[in-house]
Amino acid sequence: MSNFDEYLTKNHDRFESDLFEWLRMPSIGTDSAYDKDVRQAAQWLAGKFSELDLKTELIETCGHPLVYAESPKIEGAPTVLVYGHYDVQPPDPYELWETPPFEPSVRDGNVYARGATDDKGQMITHLFGVEAYLKTKGDLPVQVKFLIEGEEESGGAGLAAFLAGEYDKDVPVKEKLAADIAVISDCSQYAPGQPAITYGLKGITYFQVNLTGPNRDLHSGSFGGTVTNPANALCKMLAALIDDDGRVQIPGFYDNVNELDQREREQFSSLGFSDEEYRNELGVKELAGEKGFTTLERRWARPTFDINGLWSGYQGEGAKTVLPAKASAKFSFRLVPDQDPHEIEASLKKMLEELCPPGIEMDFDPHHGAPGFVLSLDSPFMSAAARAIELGFGTAPVFVRSGGSIPVVNRFTEMLGIDTLLLGWGQDDDNLHSPNEKFSLEDFHRGIKSSCCLWDEIAKI
Ligand SMILES: [Zn+2]
Repeated sequence: MSNFDEYLTKNHDRFESDLFEWLRMPSIGTDSAYDKDVRQAAQWLAGKFSELDLKTELIETCGHPLVYAESPKIEGAPTVLVYGHYDVQPPDPYELWETPPFEPSVRDGNVYARGATDDKGQMITHLFGVEAYLKTKGDLPVQVKFLIEGEEESGGAGLAAFLAGEYDKDVPVKEKLAADIAVISDCSQYAPGQPAITYGLKGITYFQVNLTGPNRDLHSGSFGGTVTNPANALCKMLAALIDDDGRVQIPGFYDNVNELDQREREQFSSLGFSDEEYRNELGVKELAGEKGFTTLERRWARPTFDINGLWSGYQGEGAKTVLPAKASAKFSFRLVPDQDPHEIEASLKKMLEELCPPGIEMDFDPHHGAPGFVLSLDSPFMSAAARAIELGFGTAPVFVRSGGSIPVVNRFTEMLGIDTLLLGWGQDDDNLHSPNEKFSLEDFHRGIKSSCCLWDEIAKI
């Protein structure tokens, strides 16, 4: 047994009791009644970094403070930026929790508490990974910087202002955070016993369209057939955005799509994903989507179009023969690398203007947009992380993508020009944002070991 394993064994219980102590602090960032607890959670974490002699700061922001800590720069070695968050989702509804959300309780090898997996339990593995390294091997072989925010669940205004340079003191933020790679542990493994690296995320572009026809709601008998009904027009316009094969019809939409290569397709199909189980879980008779791609390919690596909200006319009980004056829809496209949300917005606007019939006024309202993210499977950081996970979990990770977006990953790319390793130690059924949030303690310890191994593996690059 190496020194390192010995250290982890000796501190096994203390790692857990430290985590439980932190989980007891109700750091609910969205609710100002908990401001004191949020600050206490930040101070507790900063204290832990200080105990390891990391250069630590509590950075005050317009919202909750950021916790920043760094180890010394190692000449000629890479710098790793670890991001995480110490705020948690509100625990409501309380009555659905089997044990109180801020009294960590261990059952079947899991710790149950709000923040167990999202993100306190996952984030803190990196603090303990650094600790174990320092206590057994001396100095870290790479520089590690920690940036831990308290508003991930509530919009992240403080982090945004910090990244924009608003709290710069002696060092500009870009220099302060300069790194070669970022690491985030705030997602899931592929399945129990099967760790994963998430190497791709989708982007998004979101819109609202409001159509206006006649100057008031009309009687559909007296006026129907004489003016364009905005609800009819909206349905026709939205239907034109996608064809029967699930292909989005916006000109140029697929031009920059980073196509899946053979290796990725084989990788996905080797995961043994079952369409039947998925169908049953969702309660539908048939799956649907873009032709020529498997369910996992469509979920993880193909762009999609969905109407998110649609309203017009009469919504109440019974019938009302109205020809509505207005109709609106919210809809979005999930994008993949290297689709550009701005180009798609411009092309969509032009297309809708052409589709909008005479007699209808269109108000086109773009909401937010963000590009997708993909880290090359050939990146040396990816191989380093895979080796570290294999050492920590005893199983090599699989490579997966996600249909979701993580805005901070895009910010790191834009601002620091770096990629992010998404190393999730959680499970899909961890109930994050729901009652009875949990985290497997075995995975917690495996995460600590993986983190500790990661520093050496990255140093070898
Ligand atoms: Zn999270």
